Amino acid sequence: MAEGGRFFASAEDGHRHLLALQGMHPTRIEPFLDLAESYVLLNRQRKTSRDLLRGRTLINLFFEDSTRTRTSFELAGKRLGADVINMSVATSSVNKGETLLDTAATLNAMRTDLLVVRHAQSGAPALLAQKVEASVINAGDGTHEHPTQALLDALTIRRRCGRLSGLTVAICGDIAHSRVARSNIHLLTAMGSQVRVIGPPTLIPAEVERLGVSVFHDMALGLRDVDVVMMLRLQRERMASGLVPSAREFFRFFGLDMERLALAKPGALVMHPGPMNRGVEIDSAVADHGQSVIAEQVEMGVAVRMAVLDRLSRGRNS
Ligand code: ASP
Repeated sequence: MAEGGRFFASAEDGHRHLLALQGMHPTRIEPFLDLAESYVLLNRQRKTSRDLLRGRTLINLFFEDSTRTRTSFELAGKRLGADVINMSVATSSVNKGETLLDTAATLNAMRTDLLVVRHAQSGAPALLAQKVEASVINAGDGTHEHPTQALLDALTIRRRCGRLSGLTVAICGDIAHSRVARSNIHLLTAMGSQVRVIGPPTLIPAEVERLGVSVFHDMALGLRDVDVVMMLRLQRERMASGLVPSAREFFRFFGLDMERLALAKPGALVMHPGPMNRGVEIDSAVADHGQSVIAEQVEMGVAVRMAVLDRLSRGRNS
């Protein structure tokens, strides 16, 4: 897998894709969040329609389920004036045995400008990026990365805490199967935050410390004095059986309830990328509490994706 930062940029400086955040320098992350910030304000004024992507085609190619990511890319594309097509894999030729590369050839022939890809295989968007003319945006690949999720999380934190450096962020639960965790670790450590990962040993990847995080297996220790608590879903679809005894047991040791949240700094943010499993990783009382910014994350998702489409499309030939 090529170094992530290489793949993120606008067409102006020779990069066309957003495939990963690993290796991305803060001087490239900050201006990008600034652009997203301007879209937050625009969206709130309800003056959302712009001509930036008029005449451009955006295809959402989702090989895995999605609610928030696919809808927000669709909304982002439409708000910028693009023609947006949602290719449902369930009804496409992929189900008839077409290879990913033949799908790429088809998309090329259609002169797609922006291709948003979610795939169960880590590296699939990077492979497509080598074969299509379009700018490829990774909307989640296997257990690898989910760059726009980490960018929207960063925007949410920056708006609430006023900065990204010097914070302590706990990412809790199924770290091993989470592309959200990986992208967040890359972004937050690059921006100068301290990241703790908390979970049972079976759900913490080997040598994760090499990514610059500290590891905890006990919520009571790991949550102490953190500024942000980021909960993750148990990714059962990627999990070998036997890694977690039962949902009830998991909640008992690693679920976030009000009592555990009280160990974090007063007013600490509670985040979750969704979909949430209430009563498994997070108690309803916490999910719906004033410290929860879960709905705000969804709002930031649209703005961040507008910023991504904006940057990647600038300078492309029409
Ligand atoms: N929606 C996120 C993802 O696609 C998190 C999750 O599915 O639990 O990775």
